[in-house]
Amino acid sequence: MDDEEKQRMLKNFSDAGKIASKIASEVPKIVVPGESYFDIAESLEKMIFDAGAKPAFPVNISVNDIAAHFTPEADSQALIGEKDVVKVDLGVQIDGCIGDIAVTVDLSGEHGKLLEASQAALEAAISTIKPNVSVGKVGAVIEREIVSRGFKPIQNLTGHKIVPYILHAGVEIPNISSSASYEFKEGDIFAVEPFSSTGSGRVADTSQVEIFSLQAAPKLRLRYSRELLNHISSTYFSLPFAERWLRNVFNSKMALSAALRELLNSGALHPYPVLRDTGKGIVSQHEHTIIVEHDSARMLTSP
Ligand code: MN
Ligand code: MN
Repeated sequence: MDDEEKQRMLKNFSDAGKIASKIASEVPKIVVPGESYFDIAESLEKMIFDAGAKPAFPVNISVNDIAAHFTPEADSQALIGEKDVVKVDLGVQIDGCIGDIAVTVDLSGEHGKLLEASQAALEAAISTIKPNVSVGKVGAVIEREIVSRGFKPIQNLTGHKIVPYILHAGVEIPNISSSASYEFKEGDIFAVEPFSSTGSGRVADTSQVEIFSLQAAPKLRLRYSRELLNHISSTYFSLPFAERWLRNVFNSKMALSAALRELLNSGALHPYPVLRDTGKGIVSQHEHTIIVEHDSARMLTSP
C-alpha cells in the first residue's frame, strides 16, 4: 500500500468512526418503551446511509439476557419493554473501513452499576492499550474493572482486530485475564468491547439466526440461489447482513426462503446465532473502535 492509499484508508476509518459515534449518540432518544425493534434498526441504518456511508453489519438490538447478534426480522412486531436493558451495536463502513460501536440503555433504571462496569472496563482497556502491550493484559484490566463491581465479564465474547472489509480480522482482545500474547503495534485498529453480566459470564448459541455472512461459493441448484449469492457477494462482500435486508431481492417470499435455505445448506453462508447468557443474567456492553498510536490508543468512534 502506498502512502496515498494509506492516508485515504485512515481518513475512511476516521470518518466512519465519527459517523458511528454521532449515530450512537442518538440511541437513547430512539430506544424507548413501546418502540419497535424493526423501526429502531431501520432508522439507525437509514441514518448511516444518509451520512454517506453503509452499515458494516445489521444493527444489533440485544435485550436483557441476550448478549449479541439479535436483529429484527422483516415482519417483526416486537416492541421494547418497559424495563429492558438494551444493547445497540452498530457498524459504519466507508470502502470497508469500519467503525464499530455499542452502547447500552437501561430503561429499568435498576442496572446503573452493571452499565458502569462495562463502561469503566472499556475506558480502562483503552487507556491501557499502546504498542508492546499484550491483548491478554488488556483482558486482565477488563476483568478487574468488572469483577471489582460485583459482576462477571463475558469470557467467550471478545474485542477484535479490524482491517478493511474484515470485521473480525484474526486477533482477539479477551474480556478476561489471558496468556494471549499478541502485542499491539502502532497503526493497529481494534474494536474493544467488554460485556458485564449478572449471570454466568458465558454465552451460548440460541436456535435463532437473523445475521449471516458469505463464506464460500459452492455449486447451487436453484437459479434463485445463484442470483441471491451474486446479490450478496456484490453488495455485502464478506461483511455480515440480515435476512431483513434481502426482503426486496425477489418478488416472492417463497423464492427468498428457498434460496436462503439452499445457501445455508450448501455452506455458502456463515450463520451468527443469537447469543444468550447461559445463567439468564442481564448483560451490558460498551464498545469503541480505536487506533494504536505511538504511545497510546486513540478512539476512532468519537466526535
Ligand atoms: Mn460491535
Ligand atoms: Mn465488535
